[in-house]
Amino acid sequence: MTLKVTGVVRHYPGNPEPTLKELSFDLPEGTLTALLGKSGAGKSTLLRCVMGLEPFEKGTIEIDGVVIRGTTESTAAERHLALARARERLGLVFQNFELFPHLSVIDNCTLALIKVKRQPEAAAKAKAREVLVQLGLEHRIDVWPEQLSGGQKQRVAIARALCMEPRVLLYDEPTSALDPSLKAEVLQTLQRVDATGVTQVVVTHDIFLAKGMEYVCVLDHGQVIEAGPPAQVLGAPSHESTRELLKHWQ
Ligand code: ADP
Repeated sequence: MTLKVTGVVRHYPGNPEPTLKELSFDLPEGTLTALLGKSGAGKSTLLRCVMGLEPFEKGTIEIDGVVIRGTTESTAAERHLALARARERLGLVFQNFELFPHLSVIDNCTLALIKVKRQPEAAAKAKAREVLVQLGLEHRIDVWPEQLSGGQKQRVAIARALCMEPRVLLYDEPTSALDPSLKAEVLQTLQRVDATGVTQVVVTHDIFLAKGMEYVCVLDHGQVIEAGPPAQVLGAPSHESTRELLKHWQ
């Protein structure tokens, strides 16, 4: 299993009950998964916990059997080790892409390879070119972010994340900053990345996107209430909250 979340509890101080309540799920390697749930279900909190932007009180988050986030790291050295393990294995594609405006497309993609992974510039450029071509951006390699369309900006953000060779790539609402007419293009990009074997987890409100994925997890009140292939979860939901969610989409 690539991404395994076990018994995660996140209780914001002052709130009457926890936002994540012993939340657990387990994703097989290379799956393209949609994380669905009505507003307030805990999706963003979960994403922040996985990314290490939020502490949690109980539970563990593992990639390939290695704990990348937990609550038992008591020393600075242990916390440092967990952080290093997470950085090596995780990528995030931000809702608004967060490209560096003063860097060309290829320099956006090579920056972390050179500065964080300490790769020589030539090797970093070769890697970035390979990934940009893979995502159909061969004609945009040397332009500035402001010259890109919204869909292209997103593909550059995905290429930048893929250059670091993550095991798991997370997306925060990938269709929310784009024109609805681009949904099919976004799905196609996710499917292209799927072909590379990276495990992808996509927080989305978009039923069209969710239907095109391999696996769907539905969150409600801080727990996974059902999970499985979209035909099963969205076609014949077993939980009332999932049916409610689907009603909003129809
Ligand atoms: P979703 O992304 O599914 O809409 P969130 O994870 O944003 O859900 O929020 C779930 C609930 O957690 C919210 O309704 C709120 O009660 C609580 N929550 C989220 N962030 C905070 C915070 N920073 N401080 C206090 N409570 C929060």
